Amino acid sequence: MNGLVFDIKRFALHDGPGIRTTVFLKGCPLRCWWCQNPESIRDFPETLQIKSITPTFNNSCIEEKIFGNEINVDSLIKELIKDRIFYDESGGGVTFSGGEPLVQADFLVESLKLCKKIGINTAVDTSGYTPFENIEKIYDSTDLFLFDLKIFDDEKHIKFTDVSNKLILSNIKKLTDIGNKTIVRIPLIPGITDTNKNLLEVSRFVSTLKNIKQIDLLPYNKISESKYKRFNVPSLLSDLQTQTEEKLFEIKSMFDELDTKISLRG
Ligand code: SF4
Repeated sequence: MNGLVFDIKRFALHDGPGIRTTVFLKGCPLRCWWCQNPESIRDFPETLQIKSITPTFNNSCIEEKIFGNEINVDSLIKELIKDRIFYDESGGGVTFSGGEPLVQADFLVESLKLCKKIGINTAVDTSGYTPFENIEKIYDSTDLFLFDLKIFDDEKHIKFTDVSNKLILSNIKKLTDIGNKTIVRIPLIPGITDTNKNLLEVSRFVSTLKNIKQIDLLPYNKISESKYKRFNVPSLLSDLQTQTEEKLFEIKSMFDELDTKISLRG
């Protein structure tokens, strides 16, 4: 079975425990204004023009790069096994991310099963926007779910991501009812997700869930803005500032009452 992968990142330190290899699957049903991987969204291979600056001569050149390569499960696992020593030494493993990895549910199921069979720890980084049957299909072969919660107000969720959050909220409730495998991840986007109102609503909602392992608060990362420029893709956000340490401390304190470990930067 083939899947469409747009990147494989080795030695990832923020996509779950230990040293991990992150596999980025292409395709996503959401359109988050702050998406850090604009090359991930379409579910087909695409050619993007990349602008690079040559510092010595201070001039720029344009090169074309194809994002999205078909790979079969066996070849992918052969790649992933190469880093096994790092997984074993650090308590790490493989993380499937995207895009939304569950867009390629069948490929994901097969890849996870094979990882599990050979003893590699697995994590799935998901927006949660998928039929719950897909989550059920991967549940047994997934050690950890990194589950994004972005905006509680549904109208705002639709405005900033293009989809309703009803399915997402229902899925995380069902997932955490089954067992203790979920880390909630909240991307902190200035003025959008990091408002007091949104964080209080999200925190109240999370307090109704059982079996949350941890909450990761992810400060805004300006990398996406430069990436949009390099890829010549129009961005809906610009000039947002990363939260100050003081602001992050304030945000973290809003979750202190929850009986869950809170981590800044994941
Ligand atoms: S869910 Fe993730 S990959 Fe999809 S658009 Fe949003 S940020 Fe990008």
